[in-house]
Amino acid sequence: MEILITAGPTYEKIDPVRFIGNHSSGKMGFALAEECAARGHKVILIAGPVSLKSKHKNIKRIDVVSADDMYIAAMKYFKRCDAAILCAAVADFTPVITSDNKIKREGSNLVIELKPTKDIAAWLGANKQSHQKIVGFALETNDEETNALSKMKRKNLDFIVLNSLNDKDACFGYDTNKITIINNVGDKTVYPLKSKVEVAEDIINKLEEIL
Ligand code: C5P
Repeated sequence: MEILITAGPTYEKIDPVRFIGNHSSGKMGFALAEECAARGHKVILIAGPVSLKSKHKNIKRIDVVSADDMYIAAMKYFKRCDAAILCAAVADFTPVITSDNKIKREGSNLVIELKPTKDIAAWLGANKQSHQKIVGFALETNDEETNALSKMKRKNLDFIVLNSLNDKDACFGYDTNKITIINNVGDKTVYPLKSKVEVAEDIINKLEEIL
């Protein structure tokens, strides 16, 4: 199988020295890529700006910076893939105008107008063929399951991996994660806190079941 994985944050340029980003380390997405590759799958790993190395020879890595770059790469490579795992923490908003020169400090407040980015998951979900499966992630702070379910429906995903910022030692930057997988017929599997490598195994097991 060939599997597309998005990982890490995206950076949205404000001016030549500043950007809007987030705390995603890319560790979960890279663990998923290594696990897929170790099982003999080919991987297209579209990575935002991260300080991680991909090791396995089955991984073709494409480095991107912004949400728009990631969207263009995902559209290009999804056609030939059997599945996509969308692990990236894509920026939801990007500046309407990027300044060519460094913005200078002035006395008054600075207002930066933001516009929504393209939703990669929603685009892939709307354009997937019947043999293609899509796994999304939902990082929530409140009403976790309700939000995850509505995302899965809205984006036409096959299952969604829910992680909560309320769980200790899970999510951004940690080497551990605590997930719940909910599929598109409403089955729910709750997992204990595990290393991101073990969490990747659980997610790939579920994906291989439906492929
Ligand atoms: O709506 P929200 O950003 O919480 O959805 C999370 C899921 O959608 C993740 O799988 C994430 O990678 C994906 N996503 C995306 N493109 C965006 C925003 C989110 O692929 N612009």
